[in-house]
Amino acid sequence: MDQLLIMNDIKKSFGNVKSLSDAHFDLKAGEVHAILGANGAGKSTLMKILSGAYTADSGEIMLSGQQVEINSPKHAKDYGIFCVYQEVDTALVPQLTVADNIMLDSISSQRNIFVSKKRLLQQASKALALLDERISLQLQASELSLAEKQMVLIARALVLEAKVIIFDEPTAPLSLEETKKFFTIVNKLRNNGVGCIFISHRLPEIFEIANRITVMRDGRTISTFQTSQVTQQQIVETMLGSSFHFSFT
Ligand code: ADP
Ligand code: MG
Ligand code: MG
Repeated sequence: MDQLLIMNDIKKSFGNVKSLSDAHFDLKAGEVHAILGANGAGKSTLMKILSGAYTADSGEIMLSGQQVEINSPKHAKDYGIFCVYQEVDTALVPQLTVADNIMLDSISSQRNIFVSKKRLLQQASKALALLDERISLQLQASELSLAEKQMVLIARALVLEAKVIIFDEPTAPLSLEETKKFFTIVNKLRNNGVGCIFISHRLPEIFEIANRITVMRDGRTISTFQTSQVTQQQIVETMLGSSFHFSFT
């Protein structure tokens, strides 16, 4: 698999809170790479640095072999990095149609200045058909369920031709049925060569979908495992450190 992304020695503090003291991460094309860690471990901070919401204090980001500086969310999108945040609601404009919401970033993207709106609309329609043929392009976004809103965001990423899609706890608001469907979509993305980063607390889901798992603790990436070569128990022990003793109460 092609190496899409490498993050090395990433550090980030807020005042005297060290959110990241030593984070490393890499992602290949067509891979799902999960990030797991207790609350406060630094998962969201690392992904916000990748998606341009925060700037790292130091460290290196390589995209397809080139060192890059990611200075803003728009900048990240121009590099093909797209984040599906947990708060899908705030990422959509409720009064706009599904079609307009899907095209929202593409219209302002540097790469699309010569692409007509008609062409974008065709791409939006194609992306949505791939994800969920029951959602209509003409619907108002406010009429959608959370799972459908998430699909609209993924369609937005597809129209932008995202190479890296970050999912921050994407299954938290979904029913079991919706989660199953979400994973079929993630598999389609993987088959199309997209690299997916999957932040989750749900170990069974991680073991179902991820090729690799990176465990974070106290602002550090502790270890990266091939999912097929590790047990859930080993992951939990790595996540919580040696001070932790199992108790099933
Ligand atoms: P996780 O996503 O793994 O739960 P976060 O990356 O959200 O962890 O947080 C890591 C640490 O950084 C926490 O101690 C958190 O309070 C702190 N932190 C994150 N963002 C900010 C911020 N904008 N200002 C101050 N502290 C922050
Ligand atoms: Mg948190
Ligand atoms: Mg978080």
